[in-house]
Amino acid sequence: AHRVDNEYDYLFKIVLIGDSGVGKSNILSRFTRNEFCLESKSTIGVEFATRTLQNRLYKCMDPVQKYFRRRVTIWGGRKGIEGKTIKAQIWDTAGQERYRAITSAYYRGAVGALLVYDITKKQTFENIQRWLRELRDHADSNIVIMMVGNKSDLNHLRSVPEEDGQALAEKEGLSFLETSALEALNVEKAFQTILKDIHQIIS
Ligand code: GDP
Ligand code: MG
Repeated sequence: AHRVDNEYDYLFKIVLIGDSGVGKSNILSRFTRNEFCLESKSTIGVEFATRTLQNRLYKCMDPVQKYFRRRVTIWGGRKGIEGKTIKAQIWDTAGQERYRAITSAYYRGAVGALLVYDITKKQTFENIQRWLRELRDHADSNIVIMMVGNKSDLNHLRSVPEEDGQALAEKEGLSFLETSALEALNVEKAFQTILKDIHQIIS
C-alpha cells in the first residue's frame, strides 16, 4: 500500500542520557541527519561559538530543538508479517546533564532510553549507575533501556573493556552495543534494536 510521508503505526519517545561529552548529540545527528561534528564544544568558547553561528561549528553546540524525528521500518518476528513504520521521537538534552538538572518533563512519556558512556572515559562508565537511579526515579518503570559505549573508533584510548560493558548490561538486564558516531558504526543498529524491543513489549 502507498504510504504518505507522515503516516506511521507507532510514535515512540526515546530519551538520550549519559554524562556530558560522551557523544549523545552526535549519535542523534548521525541517526537523524547523517551528520557528525568533530570539534569539541568544550574547547570552544561560548563567545566564539556564537560568532560562528552561521558556519559548521553551529552543529557542535548543544541543540536548541528538544527532539528530532525519524521514521524507521521494523519487521515483525512472524514470517510474512508486514513491516511496521515507527516514528522515533528522540529527545536530546540542551546540556542540562552538566548541572544534573534534567527535569522529569524530559522523561515523561518516554518508552525507551539510550544510556550512553564514552569507552575512553572510565568515569562516564562508572556514572551509569547514577543514570540508572535517575531513570528509576523519573521514568516509567517499563522503560526499555539500551546501554551504549560510544567512541569505539578510539580503541587505542580505550579505558573500558567491551566485556565490562557487556557484564554490566547483563547484570542490569539491559541491551548493549558499542557505537561510533564518528564512523557511523552500530548507530543505526542501536536504534533498530531498541525500537524493536519496545515494539515487542507493547504488541
Ligand atoms: P554530548 O555532550 O553527550 O552531547 O556529546 P557530543 O555529541 O557533543 O560530543 C562530544 C565530543 O565527542 C565532540 O567533540 C564530538 O566530536 C566527540 N564525539 C562524539 N561521538 C564520537 C565518536 O563516536 N568518536 C569520536 N572519536 N568522537 C566522538
Ligand atoms: Mg549534547
